[in-house]
Amino acid sequence: MSIKIDDKSCVKCGVCEIQCPFGAIEMVGENMTITEKCTLCGACLDVCPVEAITRETIKTVTSMEKSDYHHVWVFIELHNGVPRNVGLELLGQGRLLADENKEKLVGVIIGEGSQKVANSIFNYGADEVIIVEGPQYGVYNTEVYTHVMATLIEKYKPATILIGATNNGRDLGPRVACRVKTGLTADCTDLGIDKETGNVEWTRPAFGGNIMATIVCPEHRPQIGTVRPNVFKKPIKDDMRTGNLISETVIIDDAKIRTRSINFIKNFDANHVNLEEAQFIVSGGRGLGKKENFEMIESLAEALSGTVGASRAVVDAEWISPLHQVGQTGKTVGPKVYIACGISGAIQHLAGMSSSDIIIAINKDPEAPIFDVADFGVVGDLTEVIPEFTKHILDYKNGTYMTRNLKNNG
Ligand SMILES: Cc1cc2nc3c(=O)[nH]c(=O)nc-3n(C[C@H](O)[C@H](O)[C@H](O)COP(=O)(O)OP(=O)(O)OC[C@H]3O[C@@H](n4cnc5c(N)ncnc54)[C@H](O)[C@@H]3O)c2cc1C
Repeated sequence: MSIKIDDKSCVKCGVCEIQCPFGAIEMVGENMTITEKCTLCGACLDVCPVEAITRETIKTVTSMEKSDYHHVWVFIELHNGVPRNVGLELLGQGRLLADENKEKLVGVIIGEGSQKVANSIFNYGADEVIIVEGPQYGVYNTEVYTHVMATLIEKYKPATILIGATNNGRDLGPRVACRVKTGLTADCTDLGIDKETGNVEWTRPAFGGNIMATIVCPEHRPQIGTVRPNVFKKPIKDDMRTGNLISETVIIDDAKIRTRSINFIKNFDANHVNLEEAQFIVSGGRGLGKKENFEMIESLAEALSGTVGASRAVVDAEWISPLHQVGQTGKTVGPKVYIACGISGAIQHLAGMSSSDIIIAINKDPEAPIFDVADFGVVGDLTEVIPEFTKHILDYKNGTYMTRNLKNNG
């Protein structure tokens, strides 16, 4: 693909030069010229008043026969033998894509004891489950998992593969895509389908989150994408639903495995910031005033057995590690309860938490946009509200809540 300026039609008005977000258009000699800074974003196409700018698409020729590829696969990642939520969420979306193209939905499980979880994958909507089982799959290993997935793809030729954008999924997806010579759209936040071509439309933030890009993989199969956890809800479980279980054995040449886990540290602090699977999240924003006030957030999170989140403003201020950031350029979360403390509710923050079941906002400004999405709101100074809130939770947990309130009431 390339962008061209037709020198004959161009009136040298300079509008494209001003509008280009990347400073990639400049006057060289007597002509407007596209420089190597161009990212092909196309912003200049819409602003040229004389339509002198065009985008040329070069048709690529591939030897791949797309019609050989069928069905939608969802990679079901296991964590301690249990499917991660994102795999189940993707079964719901996979079902929609499969139904649209009249294809089957297939869950793929690699792991130790994977047979045990196959039933629940049917319950969440899969027509078929492929399992590859064995102790060598107990701990995720890039080379082993890539080899298994590539072997299965070669044999079954799926049209689409959805993978959760977890640490392992983000590692596995590109490796597999490269191995089977296809494209991958990473870190998607929405999925659609082009009804005419059957191509999946993968949507993800681009250019630092400033625009949402919809990407297709028109020439190659399978079309692969990693999708962020918590952007889709888990489908409703149907305990009666069953399907076709396929057990596969993949032979791996041990000599080709170059990486080994020599000492696997269980639950190494990651639990503390396991925002994506947390049921309770207490998040702090700039309204905390100073880094030390994060202790209040931590105490409330601890009282709720929850996890600490943060807005980007406080991450940028280095009050807390980026691992805690919620939002468009942070984690997408979907807890039962999300408590936003001193967070204004910027659109980029909402993008990461608005699918929470219950949102509670604490903010001293009654006009703060966070109240537009909150189910419950407290207008007040968080330095007073949060400690009081924490005290009530602890009293409740210790069984002293009723007694104390009765005493207070005289
Ligand atoms: C491309 C891009 C990507 C971004 N990605 C993200 C992202 O992933 N996540 C994210 O969070 N942001 C992101 N941002 C930044 C976002 O636009 C906001 O700047 C940020 O979310 C603001 O953080 P905040 O709400 O903590 O701070 P502010 O907007 O400053 O809000 C502070 C709030 O605290 C309240 N307050 C102040 N004092 C008190 C008090 N004593 N008691 C109670 N309330 C009080 C104020 O009324 C105010 O509402 C992104 C921005 C861009 C441009």
